[in-house]
Amino acid sequence: MPGVVGIVGAGTMGAGIAQLALEAGHEVVLHDVDVAAIERGRARIRSGLERRARRLDLDHESADAWVDGRLGRLRAGPAIDDVAAAEPLLIVEVALEDLETKRAIFRTLDAAVGAGTVLATNTSALSVAEIAAATGRPERVLGLHFFNPAPVMPLVEVVVPLGTDPAVAERATALVTAWGKVAVRCTDTPGFIVNRVNRPFTLEALAILGAGRASVTSIDAAIRGSGLPMGPFELMDLVGLDINLAAAMGIYDGSRAAGDPLAGRFMPSAIQERLVAAGQLGRKTGSGFYDYEPDGRPSGPAADFAHPGVAGDGLPAKAIVERIMLAIVNEAYRALGDEVATAADIDLALRLGAGHPIGPIERVEGLGGRGAVLAGLRRHAGDGPRFEPASSLLQQV
Ligand code: NAD
Repeated sequence: MPGVVGIVGAGTMGAGIAQLALEAGHEVVLHDVDVAAIERGRARIRSGLERRARRLDLDHESADAWVDGRLGRLRAGPAIDDVAAAEPLLIVEVALEDLETKRAIFRTLDAAVGAGTVLATNTSALSVAEIAAATGRPERVLGLHFFNPAPVMPLVEVVVPLGTDPAVAERATALVTAWGKVAVRCTDTPGFIVNRVNRPFTLEALAILGAGRASVTSIDAAIRGSGLPMGPFELMDLVGLDINLAAAMGIYDGSRAAGDPLAGRFMPSAIQERLVAAGQLGRKTGSGFYDYEPDGRPSGPAADFAHPGVAGDGLPAKAIVERIMLAIVNEAYRALGDEVATAADIDLALRLGAGHPIGPIERVEGLGGRGAVLAGLRRHAGDGPRFEPASSLLQQV
């Protein structure tokens, strides 16, 4: 028996992570402040398990038995103490993205569970160390950043603050690896790996749009043509402009708080802020950068972007891709210089977490090598701090 896993927060991510733990044979105790959310979570887990069973190619009866067997190991925990009482080997906190909410949960859990339990947070943008500091034993706290949808996305960022016991990081890494995930290790810095290094994917696209140098549709087409599954505007519409803006804001604020002199490169886009303020949030509201039919199909650029007013012929596709990729490669070198993760893990994370066909460090070769990347960044030097060469790149050249 692989042991008990506790999940605190039964929303989108909590249900997905609970499903993963059940699939791996764990008993799971699922808690939420909202009891109805636990029941919604259970329904979501059931349909997730049914989908997985279909892919396992089991006959009808065995599939039902497989799903029922796993659901039979799911227990509701109406009180947070129910999670603690089960003495789990791991508790993953997947509640609201709010520092004080998370700190209160960790304070309660820390007081209630034995020292052997690893405490993890699935925060996207908060400081794991600040959450850990609410406990008396920060050495057993770390971040396990799953991607949405958790049962499908292969990547988990294992976020290890300075105060975390390396043995705890090893145990958590081994566990998520046993769940079939690919774990990459990173330090506790704003945006971790993917949300930070891939930030120019949307920010640079918005900058090109804002400068009137290319339209929404031509930028998306250029990026799709370069081998990515989706263009930046299609991606923002899918994720939700509010969610994407919150991530941008989190990294911008976190970098400023950390005293990063070039934090301005993460400054959120005024275009995006305007759309969010107007409630134009993407697919979920029927309109974002594109408009959507009631059945979810895009019907064309939204009114604001239908007449792009692009200066001259606009940037050719090659130049659009080059600008966005140079900014991402530069950010990857900055992350390397800040020792956020290894080059191999940065590449792996961008491939598995952001759909890049090759990672940013691997891409350097195709861009003509480090010297050519540096020359490219210098060509765009007047276009803002995203193109100011990373010192680790300068050193390597
Ligand atoms: P969600 O809104 O779907 O679910 C959050 C759940 O937490 C709700 O059911 C809510 O009732 C519950 N909750 C609130 N306060 C609580 C408390 N004090 N104790 C227990 N439960 C509480 O949110 P989500 O999308 O599942 O996100 C959860 C966390 O995962 C956030 O920190 C988010 O940043 C992070 N995350 C989300 C995504 C994503 O794409 N949705 C991806 C990675 C990480």
